[in-house]
Amino acid sequence: MENRRVPAAGRPPLSARRAPRGNREAGGRAQPASGSDPARLALEDPWIRCRACGAGIARPADRIAVGGRHRHRFANPYGIVFEIGCFAAAEGCTAVGNPTEEFTWFSGYRWRVALCAACRVHLGWRFSAAAGKGFFGLILERLVEPPPG
Ligand SMILES: [Zn+2]
Repeated sequence: MENRRVPAAGRPPLSARRAPRGNREAGGRAQPASGSDPARLALEDPWIRCRACGAGIARPADRIAVGGRHRHRFANPYGIVFEIGCFAAAEGCTAVGNPTEEFTWFSGYRWRVALCAACRVHLGWRFSAAAGKGFFGLILERLVEPPPG
């Protein structure tokens, strides 16, 4: 049961939904209906999208707070500053590499690089704790928010 919505660790389950630029929600029924809430589908299932290619990455409902905040600002060891948002899931991301604790921004969490599953641009990191809990920290300027309302 825990595998039902497993984050896209190795495979991009939703890459088929990638829509051409400027044409979000073309077609729009690529998913099996299991457990879908009709009210939610009526909202056109908004996606937070990859700025580079337009693929759906995460949903607004996937946003979470970690350490009390959704947004965090960090610098990597090279001094590059990233503003990231935390997401419980990011179905359009694929995590690559081996988990490491080096320079981790969230103590107790290891990280892997998270790429857009469609165009492979670097979108952020997947953080995971020893207990198996985890989340995505995604670089906000590399995403496009769905229009409000
Ligand atoms: Zn992309």
